[in-house]
Amino acid sequence: MSNLEQTLSIIKPDAVERNLENDIKAIFKKNGFSIIKEKKIQIEKSEAEKFYKTHETKPFYDDLCTYLSSGPILAMVLEKKNAISANRELMGSTNPDDAEEGTIRKKYGISIDKNSVHGSDSMENAKIEINFFFKD
Ligand code: UDP
Ligand code: MG
Repeated sequence: MSNLEQTLSIIKPDAVERNLENDIKAIFKKNGFSIIKEKKIQIEKSEAEKFYKTHETKPFYDDLCTYLSSGPILAMVLEKKNAISANRELMGSTNPDDAEEGTIRKKYGISIDKNSVHGSDSMENAKIEINFFFKD
């Protein structure tokens, strides 16, 4: 039985701004992910609010949505065996200060809010988030 999964990855504005797209994509490929789809866009704040709806009661929600819509992002569908957890592991902790050596956030993250990448956290959310960016 195959457990090939797809997950949504976003290279966030802080990383796009520093031209880290190719470096981060190379890390995904080196770690066995296939980039199935990709789209560089800038979203409206209202769309960021929809994307991060699960965080709407959090104190950081407004800043988070302002931030995600502040500049271009690269949304990607990544595919690999157990892609969702594998990507979470490769990204590292939400706060780059707590992230393990060798993770993307350890290497490139600036702060807990400017942490360079997003990755879906469950199969259910991966479906919702892939559909959010790649509804064709
Ligand atoms: N975030 C923040 N302050 C916090 C916690 C989270 O700015 O105290 C931001 C951070 O950029 C994070 C995003 O909100 O990536 C979503 O939070 P979540 O807990 O889902 O972290 P993630 O799944 O991205 O690791
Ligand atoms: Mg999350």
